[in-house]
Amino acid sequence: MHAIDGAVNRMGKQNGSCWWCFKAVKWIPVIFILTIVAWSYYAYVVQLCYCIIDNYVQKGFYLLFFHILFLMFLWSYWQTVFTELMPVPDKFKIPDVEMEKLQQAETEEVQRQILERFAQDLPVTNRTIKGAMRFCEKCQLIKPDRAHHCSVCGTCVLKMDHHCPWVNNCVGFHNYKFFMLFLAYALLYCMFITATSLQYFIRFWRGELDGMGRFHLLFLFFVALMFAVSLNSLFFYHCYLVVHNRSTLEAFRTPMFRTGKDKDGFSLGKYNNFQEVFGDNARLWFLPIFSSLGNGVVYPVRSQHQGTPNTYDSMGSTQNSFGDGVNFPERLCNEDTHTLLGHGTQQWGDDTDFDSPPPYVNQVHH
Ligand SMILES: [Zn+2]
Ligand SMILES: [Zn+2]
Repeated sequence: MHAIDGAVNRMGKQNGSCWWCFKAVKWIPVIFILTIVAWSYYAYVVQLCYCIIDNYVQKGFYLLFFHILFLMFLWSYWQTVFTELMPVPDKFKIPDVEMEKLQQAETEEVQRQILERFAQDLPVTNRTIKGAMRFCEKCQLIKPDRAHHCSVCGTCVLKMDHHCPWVNNCVGFHNYKFFMLFLAYALLYCMFITATSLQYFIRFWRGELDGMGRFHLLFLFFVALMFAVSLNSLFFYHCYLVVHNRSTLEAFRTPMFRTGKDKDGFSLGKYNNFQEVFGDNARLWFLPIFSSLGNGVVYPVRSQHQGTPNTYDSMGSTQNSFGDGVNFPERLCNEDTHTLLGHGTQQWGDDTDFDSPPPYVNQVHH
């Protein structure tokens, strides 16, 4: 009954002032980013290009490239923030009748059988660490492969990568490409500013610049450099994840298949993995227009994990893993100690995955 109580509470909260405050506070990081970007525009275009640079050719060149990067960055950012993540299809939702049966089930084994029976025709290959169907008690559904529950968004997110406060949105199947482009253009934007303002930064230290503009320039250089350094590692880490076909969550917790754990279970080869996110039309690769392959629910898996019948349309060969020997920490704590409501442990900070039996087991024993 906890799930139902929880749902009622959440509904109640949605109309309360607290809920609106919480919703407003979540926009603060986005407003922070936009304020910095707006200031950087002023500092670069007005203070650097108009007030300091005299050479018209140089001015034109700087302004042209700056505006291209600025617009691409804002467009990608907008898409990452405002892309609505599509809900899990209805066929994964557990009907009330089945939910009642689940709640009344006395043992874990009975619940497991109910879930197995319900999900027998669903295209799911991922399992919990104990080999059971992955079930979200909050959304009352069978989780599609690679989907996880986000407690900030309050819903299950398809191919959830992580919840990103800087975009006030979950990064998942529907906006992962936008997120990658956002990182790429943000990095290029910061690198471009750092590189082109360096000589003026040096002049500042030599005392060759005067006026208030030089302080804008000083901060512009430092802020751009600082963001470039931090974005650099994040961007290249996500490049690594894209070519290995892993989400951030999967990099930290190896996905479990019917046949066992496999960190490369979704990997189809580097180029195919890249295409799965960026699409097969090269003209759209660098534009924040949705072009990822698939539907977010079913993913091609390596042959040994395929069940019968094969439920997806393959995007290419499913042969290889790279054997690159790179291992990420698989878990932050012992998997078997993680139960749903019983202990309330959170591994991800966003209570993403409930790879354990439904909560009713615990309640039955209470
Ligand atoms: Zn959920
Ligand atoms: Zn989220």
